Amino acid sequence: MLRLPPFTYLAPSTVDDAGNAMAEHGAQAMLVAGGTDLYPNMKRRQFEPTVLVGLRAIRELRGVRGGARDGVTIGACTTLSAVAAHRAIAVHYPALATAAGLVSSPQLRNMGTIGGNVCVDTRCNYYNQSYEWRKAVGFCTKKDGVICLVAPGSPRCWAVSSSDTAPVLWSLGARVRLHSAAGERTIPVEALFRDDGIEYLAKRPDEILTDIVLPPADGWRSAYLKLRRRGSFDFPVLGVAVALRMEGDVVRDARLVIGAVASQPRPASAAAAALVGERLTPELITRVADLAAGPAKPLDNTDVPSASCSSASSRRRRTSRRAWCRRSSRGGSPRRSTRSVGSPQRSACRSPRCSTASPPARSW
Ligand SMILES: Cc1cc2nc3c(=O)[nH]c(=O)nc-3n(C[C@H](O)[C@H](O)[C@H](O)COP(=O)(O)OP(=O)(O)OC[C@H]3O[C@@H](n4cnc5c(N)ncnc54)[C@H](O)[C@@H]3O)c2cc1C
Ligand code: SF4
Repeated sequence: MLRLPPFTYLAPSTVDDAGNAMAEHGAQAMLVAGGTDLYPNMKRRQFEPTVLVGLRAIRELRGVRGGARDGVTIGACTTLSAVAAHRAIAVHYPALATAAGLVSSPQLRNMGTIGGNVCVDTRCNYYNQSYEWRKAVGFCTKKDGVICLVAPGSPRCWAVSSSDTAPVLWSLGARVRLHSAAGERTIPVEALFRDDGIEYLAKRPDEILTDIVLPPADGWRSAYLKLRRRGSFDFPVLGVAVALRMEGDVVRDARLVIGAVASQPRPASAAAAALVGERLTPELITRVADLAAGPAKPLDNTDVPSASCSSASSRRRRTSRRAWCRRSSRGGSPRRSTRSVGSPQRSACRSPRCSTASPPARSW
């Protein structure tokens, strides 16, 4: 059994106190919300904080405020279950309700928060392993080692952004509010992410994500589709978030963001641009899906080999837009959609960046 190392748990009751605690304890401290990602990482010694600043006792971080007309503000410690079940979110920002409702299992959605989901660690088959396993293979750059075991010639880490809600929030034009002892700032959600498997967040470690601010719905409709190995509780190997605004049956605006294919969500801007000014036909959807596969260049370091992921990526985007079309014509919510894939054939990575042999199976 993997055990947690000793640590001090602080339970501030205001955001100010939490910010001050983070400033006081510096690099020794980490924030914890639901703990569904952080505690397993501590058990595997991927995170080694001696102080945890818990956010669960801070009431101002919980709940959903506002509505479709003026925009919705979601407290960072609102659970994923609450986000998925919230009526205004389900009706006006359906992709977000779908994504939150597809994270892991009901138990984890009851504990896991939307703030923790946005900040969740990147994943890699060589990293999501016990300390002993990682020690046996010599560790890697992301923790305790000096080379990347996926792409040994590469100076960077290619661990994959695996949040379900991050690509959706990006496609919806969300902003995030950050608080620290030094002050507050609000940034577009896309400015929160960096294309680096280690430094994957552009915020300082002492900054607390306090709120997620969704803009007015203003005619935007959205859908999210997720590909994963097991439909019951797996991380995404591909997430496709689409938001469209229509004028009659012509697309006026479009945003398309892909998750789980790089160290940060990837916007598929060329594909989105190809939709604007057009009627949604099966031919257009096929062309746009192929364009959208462009930014998806995953390595073989997560659940499914990169080739299957890339072609699945194109299929998912086609399905996502068709789901959106069905929803649009029915005026209702799209069927919650997830697909699991069969046991992947493990193979050597085909990326020119990579010289590794077959990757290991991942562990939780
Ligand atoms: C078996 C299993 C399956 C999973 N499947 C999925 C999945 O399908 N999709 C998915 O997206 N995730 C999945 N997860 C990961 C995780 O459960 C979710 O991402 C969850 O939403 C994390 O939220 P949390 O509140 O538990 O975060 P925590 O574990 O508390 O924190 C996660 C990270 O975010 C930081 N953090 C938390 N809150 C804040 C805040 N307010 N401000 C700044 N930093 C903060 C923490 O310091 C930590 O680095 C899975 C986890 C497990 C164990
Ligand atoms: S991509 Fe490389 S450095 Fe990053 S976690 Fe995987 S093996 Fe480690």
